[in-house]
Amino acid sequence: MNNEVKVRFAPSPTGMMHIGNARTALITWLFTRANNGRFLLRIDDTDQERSKQEYEIAIEEGLTWIGMDWDEKTRQKDRMDIYNEKIEWLKEQGRLYPCYETPEELDLKRKSLLSRKLPPIYDREALSLTDEQKASFDAQGSKPHWRFKLEHEPIEWNDLVRGPVKFRGSDLSDPVLIREDGTPLYHLCSVIDDIEYGMTHIIRGEDHVSNTACHIQMFKAFGAQIPTFAHLPLLSDKEGSKLSKRHGSLSLRDLRKEGLDPMAVVSLMARLGSSDPIEPFANIEDVVKSFDLSKFSRATPKFDLDELYRLNTKILHNLSFTEVKDRLAELGLDKMDGEFWLAIQPNIKRLTDAKEWWRVAKGPVTPIIEDRNFALQAMELLPATPWDENTWQEWTKAVKEQTGRKGKQLFMPLRQALTGMDHGPELGQLLLLIGEENVKKRLQYSPE
Ligand code: GLU
Repeated sequence: MNNEVKVRFAPSPTGMMHIGNARTALITWLFTRANNGRFLLRIDDTDQERSKQEYEIAIEEGLTWIGMDWDEKTRQKDRMDIYNEKIEWLKEQGRLYPCYETPEELDLKRKSLLSRKLPPIYDREALSLTDEQKASFDAQGSKPHWRFKLEHEPIEWNDLVRGPVKFRGSDLSDPVLIREDGTPLYHLCSVIDDIEYGMTHIIRGEDHVSNTACHIQMFKAFGAQIPTFAHLPLLSDKEGSKLSKRHGSLSLRDLRKEGLDPMAVVSLMARLGSSDPIEPFANIEDVVKSFDLSKFSRATPKFDLDELYRLNTKILHNLSFTEVKDRLAELGLDKMDGEFWLAIQPNIKRLTDAKEWWRVAKGPVTPIIEDRNFALQAMELLPATPWDENTWQEWTKAVKEQTGRKGKQLFMPLRQALTGMDHGPELGQLLLLIGEENVKKRLQYSPE
């Protein structure tokens, strides 16, 4: 018997990978790697209408971007034969029963229970259908959906995040496992796969807590070992409401496009909601080493995009040129060298800002010149090349002496002339990056 930890992340490819799913994915993966386990990526694509290959690709891209990998991958779509075999078995055991209610009838039942302040639990009316009644529905061409018959007994588990959790079978509706068209639904496929792939731990969002209660009875029905569960609370926004599209670009693809460093996402997601402090990590191996699932609490973690950007800035400010070279090239900055990087690094909040500094140095730049004479005077006073780190000081000292200008009166017009902007990197370094030719051109600039 081996005790290898086996965990899966099971996204449905029905949309872009959102920061909330990414968090579940990452925590699941960190747990697996921290325990030297095996990680399965399972694509839950039984919903044929909503599942799209482009989303599956985006999910994989997103996971790879944040540094995750997987030992195995499976798609539920490819496993229909296995599900059908298990369905037959469950039917033989009397754990699946056909139901002929239409969605409208079910909705009416729900509303009627709710209006009487009763929980909207399915009343199992279909369980008392006689064989004749079923035959008559079939003869009319009605197609049944199938429900799993729960045992009305206590269901308990010790959740790694929530602690002891208790349900009673009678508090739950018998879950629908098979649609009218005969296709199996999430609960069934998920449990069958969790068994077949030998999952030891199931880590997922707390929106699945009541599903887990049903799943535990399904594991039992199949005579399988019940895995250990951990349900993570879902992220909320800063004010405590549900995260939604309203909160801007929160898919991994968008965050990547925004120029965020994947380690900023990893650093925040690996610690948010845990009692460990949030700190910038430079590589994912260190995150694995310090990961501890028991530090996660069931309180709702608040996601703050500004915090993500602050972490991103800290991480960027520590990256060496070698670490960032390829990514700069991806942004079209393949000509940038280490010296340039060091000069702009303290001034960038995200990597894409580097593009702007490259443009400021190499052009095109439209200088802002309010006092042409001053600019020309300053040009005359430029020290001879080659320039070095003292050039800026020498130059501005000379300009100050000649023109009598100081402080903002001195520096702002120089900055505006050289960069066309009134803020930005240390001019001492920028001067060297712009170079003599461009500096002169910009100081002599006159519109039209
Ligand atoms: N496809 C399900 C989801 O995305 C998987 C849940 C699970 O981990 O079992 O919510």
